Amino acid sequence: MVSLFNFRRYRLPLRTVVRTAHGVLAEREGVLVRLEDENGAVGYGEAAVLPWFGTETADEVEAACATLGPRVTAAELAAVPARLKCLRFALQAATSAEASAAERRPVKATQKYLPVAALLPAGRAVLSKILPLAEAGFRTFKWKVGVGGIDDELVLLDDVCAALPSGAKLRLDANGAWQRRQAEQWLERCAERPVEFIEQPVAADARGAENLLRGLANDYPTPLALDESLAGDGDVERWLGAGWPGVFVVKPSLLGDAAGTLARLAAAKSKVVFSSALETAVGARAALRQAFQWPGEARALGFGVWPLFADAQFDGPALAPFLRAEDVERINVEAAWNALN
Ligand code: MG
Repeated sequence: MVSLFNFRRYRLPLRTVVRTAHGVLAEREGVLVRLEDENGAVGYGEAAVLPWFGTETADEVEAACATLGPRVTAAELAAVPARLKCLRFALQAATSAEASAAERRPVKATQKYLPVAALLPAGRAVLSKILPLAEAGFRTFKWKVGVGGIDDELVLLDDVCAALPSGAKLRLDANGAWQRRQAEQWLERCAERPVEFIEQPVAADARGAENLLRGLANDYPTPLALDESLAGDGDVERWLGAGWPGVFVVKPSLLGDAAGTLARLAAAKSKVVFSSALETAVGARAALRQAFQWPGEARALGFGVWPLFADAQFDGPALAPFLRAEDVERINVEAAWNALN
């Protein structure tokens, strides 16, 4: 079967700049793809590249798409190199959407709705944000730490815990900012607090990081989560093989074979949190479909990122305490594709 193949590269300004551990992001670059099969069924996908997270670049995706040409076979799609993992995710999304459209049935969701984590700002600004978010219905909160001094932040931790509504869960994300001693101080402090997990306490590329992360995970009761340490299917496989006892923060858009890798995580009964890679609506629908098909424990989504783009046509569903499977199916991917014309 030969499909018609089309792609559109984008460079979209963000509504407000996003601060990451790797610098300030003012615009988002990536590539949307479109496949149309012989029956006229159309599927869309997105290569939401994050080169600083270990993915290919938008230039590499564009070159590979140009090489594929306007007519492609399944064999040609399958032959896209594994290192182009964002492009592979895009093509997988476009072909599976195609298949489900042809069969005239919606993608089957395991979950009807999923909670969404609210993102709290670093530093003292956190304190004024908790109450309005709690009143809006959020019960999972994610606080960026490792930004200010450790003593100040540890004092703030008690104020944050005191401000949380009862039954709330707090996620801490250090984005790899700590050394061993600081990570130990935090883990000692978190032991009796409502901390769901600490994300990436030490840098993924620090010397001996894997042994250090494993040691910390074994020595303290608060679970640890891997985020920057998981820059693709290979990293997930390696940590899975090593019996990682903590949480896997999975950005489906960065997995070349999201369905296969998630099936292996599910078979191992791993703890998984689904997270955004700052996709447009196109990649968001594909990534969220994976989250809604996850058969394991339903943890709050790390998708509280929209509105994100200066042009709202590219946004996924606006931030709310819950996301429903039907909200995901309602995402208008065709409008996002057409808006790039
Ligand atoms: Mg993180």
